[in-house]
Amino acid sequence: MSQEIPEKQWACVIEKTGGPVEYKEIPVPKPGPDEVLINIKYSGVCHTDLHAVNGDWPLATKLPLVGGHEGAGVVVALGELVDDIKVGDYGGVKWINGTCLACDFCQQADEPLCPKALLSGYTVDGTFQQYCIAKAAHMTRLSKDIPLDAVAPVLCAGITVYKGLKESGAKPGQTVAIVGAGGGLGSLAQQYAKAMGLRTIAIDTGDDKEKMCSELGSYAFVDFAKSKNVVKDVQAATEDGLGPHAVILVAVNEKPFQQAAEYVRPRGTVVCIGLPAGAYLRAPVFESVIKMVTIKGSYVGNRRDGAEAIEFFRRGLIKAPYKIVGLSELQKVYDLMHEGKIAGRYVLDTSK
Ligand code: NAD
Ligand code: ZN
Ligand code: ZN
Repeated sequence: MSQEIPEKQWACVIEKTGGPVEYKEIPVPKPGPDEVLINIKYSGVCHTDLHAVNGDWPLATKLPLVGGHEGAGVVVALGELVDDIKVGDYGGVKWINGTCLACDFCQQADEPLCPKALLSGYTVDGTFQQYCIAKAAHMTRLSKDIPLDAVAPVLCAGITVYKGLKESGAKPGQTVAIVGAGGGLGSLAQQYAKAMGLRTIAIDTGDDKEKMCSELGSYAFVDFAKSKNVVKDVQAATEDGLGPHAVILVAVNEKPFQQAAEYVRPRGTVVCIGLPAGAYLRAPVFESVIKMVTIKGSYVGNRRDGAEAIEFFRRGLIKAPYKIVGLSELQKVYDLMHEGKIAGRYVLDTSK
């Protein structure tokens, strides 16, 4: 049954880099021929959205900007070329809103590397609005048994950490350190790692986050603010003291990006995912060489990674804590995120 589409809708908009975030009414956009219009019910808030507001990266956003890229909702309109999606289907809007599907990278399913990629909530308007546009080819297909609130964080955080864990090459039974484990990506990383048969050491700070990480399945927690020597403590948390087989860096500070190569196990892999402003990687050449360390970046995932990450979730293997607040409260969520006070994820209900 088709739903009436209003002319106006509520959205969170920034007019300039640095904010403030304004909760206001804006027109509902119309989908182009290869696009769908999705009535977003819930949207997760990723730290990337805060980086976008703050202008942290050497890549300009569109302005004015509706942020957000973890949106889950119901398809309400289709462009005339869209024939594999129906009005009423559930759909997810992720960071990669669309790509050319024809370049060297798209042809090899490295869609995030497409030079023409459209980025939701960054170069095109995102999911902090009630009606959002997505390229049909890239809309994440969600079956009707999937709860739209809980799945929202999977659409960026889940897909990204699942891809990062695959990129790490860690095998079932091996140990992975999750750095920034108490945040949105970190909490999901522990659940995906567990589902993939990996053991995890969580690194973050605070009692709330320590408790959450233990509930999510990590067998050890290193508090980076209390530890006198993070490198030694992480290595000591592994059975033979030689360090974790892989490190997943999802922290929002530079320091751990300059430490991980020191504690990773010989032959181990450091996967960089977090994007702290102005940060540089650093590793001692001597240890990196004689330990044969691999250091690599990992950037969201392709459509297939998305479908796989969603399937883990649909099967009930991924349960990470999230709190729901109204779309109008986005600024408060950013304030808490800036202070590092969020254990898990916040999800916005677009009806409030
Ligand atoms: P978040 O704010 O929810 O979590 C970040 C966590 O890092 C917090 O719990 C914080 O306490 C922790 N932290 C800060 N300093 C630390 C330190 N020195 N050691 C260990 N932990 C530390 O953020 P999020 O939404 O999970 O995003 C994390 C990062 O990942 C952001 O920079 C975001 O832009 C980036 N990101 C990258 C990709 C990608 O494709 N590469 C995708 C999504 C997000
Ligand atoms: Zn994100
Ligand atoms: Zn392309």
